Amino acid sequence: MAGYKLYSKSELDISGLKVEVQRKNVKNLNLRVYPAERRVKVSIPRRISDSEVANFVESKLPWIHKHMANYRRKPKLQPKKYITGELHPVWGKDLELVVIEMNKPSRIWVDGDKLKLFIRPETDQQKRASVLKEWYRKELKQTIPELIEKWEPKMDVKVEEFGVKYMKTRWGTCNIQARRIWFNLELAKKRPELLEYVVVHEMVHLLERLHSKRFYNFMTHFLPEWKSLKDELNGKSQILDC
Ligand SMILES: [Zn+2]
Repeated sequence: MAGYKLYSKSELDISGLKVEVQRKNVKNLNLRVYPAERRVKVSIPRRISDSEVANFVESKLPWIHKHMANYRRKPKLQPKKYITGELHPVWGKDLELVVIEMNKPSRIWVDGDKLKLFIRPETDQQKRASVLKEWYRKELKQTIPELIEKWEPKMDVKVEEFGVKYMKTRWGTCNIQARRIWFNLELAKKRPELLEYVVVHEMVHLLERLHSKRFYNFMTHFLPEWKSLKDELNGKSQILDC
């Protein structure tokens, strides 16, 4: 975003709503809702008066309230505790965690719809989390080579190297010069088809660097259903891009 010059900042109470008003060198009135804080922010051109702002916000009240109500309805992501009975996603299925304490090195075993976590007694939550994280990484490291090998001849490209790491905003990245691809650790929680979509997406970057029309033509050619896979992957997630 370009740097906007801020002239003044004030707060108005409009029908019980706290509204932060910023006068800036912008052309239009912009309104933003922060549902968690039940706060509204508007940025407006300098010449707009407080009463004009109030009229503007009041005209948007139904929309603002709807937005805030939607936020409340959304279930909050509960931090995992890594205890027996808790559900953990593995390859698109929710498995029930079963914690088994043993005096042996930790390991994980999928048994039907159970995810068995063998750990030493008194292993804390953080350590349990890291055991599971490393297991997700191992799952991906086992699965990804087959997919790369499957797609290399079809696409006539070569992947030199891949890695798995947690990324906040992306499912995958591709370094074209090094022909090295990074995959998001979270992909082990998704259906295998969604991992394959990311593999194909990143490998298409070896043919076309940009998300251009040419890029999407390749996607459609190799994976005609890519769009619905992409929507499914991005659906309920904070991670939005490849
Ligand atoms: Zn991309």
